[in-house]
Amino acid sequence: MTDPMQQLQTQCASCQNCPLGATRTNLVFGVGDPAAKLLFVGEGPGEQEDLQGEPFVGKSGQLLDRYLALIGRPRDGGVYIANIVKCRPPHNRDPKPEESEQCLPWLRAQVRILRPKIIVCLGRIAAQRLIDPEFRVTRMHGVFTEKGGILFMGTFHPAALLRNPAQKKDALADFQALRDKLEELGI
Ligand code: SF4
Repeated sequence: MTDPMQQLQTQCASCQNCPLGATRTNLVFGVGDPAAKLLFVGEGPGEQEDLQGEPFVGKSGQLLDRYLALIGRPRDGGVYIANIVKCRPPHNRDPKPEESEQCLPWLRAQVRILRPKIIVCLGRIAAQRLIDPEFRVTRMHGVFTEKGGILFMGTFHPAALLRNPAQKKDALADFQALRDKLEELGI
């Protein structure tokens, strides 16, 4: 039987539903364990992600991997990582609302397959899309909010932490809280 996530990725590979499809090098569909109950969502691929076809590579990916190690979830074990948009916005600009809107059905389909218990939004764009349109990371990070049977939490985007290392202690606290929550829920 075909893996449903693989099947979805194959469908997504030919997507041209928004203008970002025309300028991508590679689709960045998502990576990780298709049985994961913990999903991380960023905003969209950057240059390295576009070149390699994988989310969160390069320096920000290495930082994310360090946080994943802290919670005992390597990329291929118990975690799935995806983005709001699957194709790189030119010059790393924010995805436009209409691009996010066009791409969200792919993420929703990924969520239907994974059926995660926790979704962690990495950065403002993902948190505003999935948690609260008024989400402010500096004020609202680390708080778990239940929606539709899923716990959502927003924290800092690793690229933002590289630009502003003073926020790393807050991010660390968020991941420690996440580790505790995973333990509490037996995930
Ligand atoms: S960003 Fe999403 S909607 Fe736009 S072309 Fe890529 S996969 Fe399709």
